[in-house]
Amino acid sequence: MHAVPFFRPDIRDAEIGEVVAVLRSGWLTTGPITERFEREFAHAVGARHALAVNSCTAALHLAVNALGLRPRQGVLVPTMTFAATAEVIRYEGGVPVLVDCEPDTGHLDLHAAERLLSGAELGRGIFSSFAGIMPVHVGGHMLDMDAVQQLADEWRLWVVEDAAHAFPAARRNRPHEPLRRCGEGTADVSCFSFYANKTMTTGEGGMAVTDEPELAERMRLMSLHGLSRGAWMRYSDRGSWDYQIMAPGYKYNLTDIAAAIGVHQLERAEDMRQRRERIAQRYHDALCSVEELTLPPAPANCVHAWHLFPIALRLDRLTLDRNQFIEELKQRGVTPSVHWRPLHMHPYYQRVFGYRPGDCPHASARFQRTVSLPLFSAMTETDVAHVIASVRDVVVRHHRSAAGGQSKAGASRSAG
Ligand SMILES: *Cc1c(COP(=O)(O)O)cnc(C)c1O
Repeated sequence: MHAVPFFRPDIRDAEIGEVVAVLRSGWLTTGPITERFEREFAHAVGARHALAVNSCTAALHLAVNALGLRPRQGVLVPTMTFAATAEVIRYEGGVPVLVDCEPDTGHLDLHAAERLLSGAELGRGIFSSFAGIMPVHVGGHMLDMDAVQQLADEWRLWVVEDAAHAFPAARRNRPHEPLRRCGEGTADVSCFSFYANKTMTTGEGGMAVTDEPELAERMRLMSLHGLSRGAWMRYSDRGSWDYQIMAPGYKYNLTDIAAAIGVHQLERAEDMRQRRERIAQRYHDALCSVEELTLPPAPANCVHAWHLFPIALRLDRLTLDRNQFIEELKQRGVTPSVHWRPLHMHPYYQRVFGYRPGDCPHASARFQRTVSLPLFSAMTETDVAHVIASVRDVVVRHHRSAAGGQSKAGASRSAG
């Protein structure tokens, strides 16, 4: 049976050669290749400053730390996100106030955010005031950052965008307006991920970009023990042995070994995106007529990074649930995933802040229905065809007829 993993990194000879060159160079940690990676990434997204770090989580933490958060201040975080977006608020003693999502995109719902800001809807947990908002571009589909900025201006919030899925991505909100890239002044700080299964990878890694020199400086300081100058400068002919500790910082710097992978992934990032876009198009063409499924929107005003292809099951038309759907795909050799169990449905947020599944109903409903299909640039034609055939086969065998009856497979399942 043909097997399709959820993800396979797209690593070529250029990355391998550059890593070997770094290993031979005698300089393994943050150094000249990391500097080059920062320069080239800043250029790629159109930002003034870029700081390479060892994860997107580190970038998010440095951003929140630099923008400032008083203990017990609230930050609006979508419940539909990965652990990292909210946990960095806890690192700084703040309260993540979870916001429900839009049903079709999974994006943070700005109307729900406004209801929380105005006190019309109670946020869980004790918080004094709101400091910021952290939208997530779910799956690489950019949300409307002009609308986010408008809300942020109105309520005097800072904006950190979790762009872990959104490189490269862009959006225009009005026809004839130029496309604005994610990271091109779209937030106070934009944070990207180079985790092993993201749209480009360094194994582990991340990047914080900003146009504000003070934020860039503060994040750089805190990324390496709060030292007054980079450690790699200390041991190079450009540096000196002396440094001063300006603040109790963190250890978040990226190695040159990782950056060596990054510079070549960056060169091919748009090629890899176009490859994913073609696969997403094939999924759309092959599955749009399947009434049991709702496909992710592919809006014409966006350059979509297509990190994920999340389909939603119409459970009323199927005789199996989301978990059984995933099991059936796995039996056919296809490994899907789910993005995500929303934060308000995790034990930590329930225990500490008293969240219940009903608090963010759209996110809870989406979680029950959603499945992310494999989507990566290294997929072969055979992989794509096998995913499509498997999805169609599971749907056909577990289709619930309009009269309310069940297909044979469904009937035998419920009988068993
Ligand atoms: C992967 C991911 C992160 C964390 O990225 P790391 O580089 O692994 O720290 C943060 N937010 C979202 C939405 C992610 O998918």
